[in-house]
Amino acid sequence: MGVFDDLVGQEQAALTLRRAAAAGAEILAGGRGAGMTHAWLFTGPPGSGREEAARAFAAALFCPDQGCGHCDLCHQVAIGSHPDLEIVRPQGLSYGIKDTRQLILRAAGAPTLGRWRVVLFEDADRATEGASNALLKAIEEPPPRTVWLLCAPAPDDMMITIRSRCRQVTLVTPPTAAVAHVLATRENVPPAMAEFAARAAQGHIDRARRLALDEEARKRRDAVLSIPRSLTGVAECVTAAERLVKTAEEEAAAVTAVLNESEVTELRKIYGEGSSGKGLNKGLIRGGAGALKDLEDRQKSRATRTKRDVIDTALLDLVAFYRDVLAVQFGARVELANEDRGNEIEGLARSSTPEDTLRRIDAIMRCRERLAANVNPQMAVEAMTLSLRRPG
Ligand SMILES: [Zn+2]
Repeated sequence: MGVFDDLVGQEQAALTLRRAAAAGAEILAGGRGAGMTHAWLFTGPPGSGREEAARAFAAALFCPDQGCGHCDLCHQVAIGSHPDLEIVRPQGLSYGIKDTRQLILRAAGAPTLGRWRVVLFEDADRATEGASNALLKAIEEPPPRTVWLLCAPAPDDMMITIRSRCRQVTLVTPPTAAVAHVLATRENVPPAMAEFAARAAQGHIDRARRLALDEEARKRRDAVLSIPRSLTGVAECVTAAERLVKTAEEEAAAVTAVLNESEVTELRKIYGEGSSGKGLNKGLIRGGAGALKDLEDRQKSRATRTKRDVIDTALLDLVAFYRDVLAVQFGARVELANEDRGNEIEGLARSSTPEDTLRRIDAIMRCRERLAANVNPQMAVEAMTLSLRRPG
């Protein structure tokens, strides 16, 4: 068992990365190491495990056995504490030039443990234009031991100049059976539940895990999937949109509240407001207030992003629902994502046309685009539910 065995349904990518890690070891031993390069771009649909693949590769570069999965170094990578691994996880909607410049400076240092210095940049597509240009320069002239691992949904999400300087690793949507197998073997999920969650999540591993392990997540999915049949009139469409946005807000609040509080406590500690209750040290008051304001801005941006992500998950569930309807209408023999709603899907397939279904899928996709373009969520979702309304 090595680190690459943990990647679900990604044999091709694992093969590429194994070879590159071997080439990396060759370089460290003084050889040429063809097949290793300094900039990598991991792309693949949400939930395919981009970050996991990049992390496995980082472990393989640090580990003397190229990713054994059980030595100290592999373990440090897994928990994110390896001194030569920097993980960048943009918390807000974008990642700016100031942060990027600091990151590039840190990345340029020699590796502490003498092998590689690795920057794993999650959601690199959130880098602003200025940040991307700075990044490009860093990638063009890399220090000999620095390796950049950029992750993004699709190659098109990155500037072409960055993309063309990276070696690309393309992850695929893992098959349902592979996801179900992972849930059953690693999370001890009963087979029937594993199968259900894997199907419902359509190859999105994290989502499948959440559906399998968290009853609240299943309830939320149920609520989303009951939207189509609730849309009997205009008022119902407005209500359904309101409910969807409100649920997303609540879920986002729950996710961010825990993080926010621990971050503020941490910051207060740094700026000298200890448990003694003496308040902020005078000399630090100014800096502390500024940093707190900074933190609050970042937290606000993260809350917006989380809310948007939650709505997007709901929209993707709806797309999967109508795709099932379309499959039935066309008599396609594919596995349905929502087998648990077979009757409802059959009914809708009979009472509407494929054109209706396509129009509805379009409406959902348009809503996703509008949300990504910062349109007010309530307005965007309402326009969508009105378009989803049954004809007649
Ligand atoms: Zn190892």
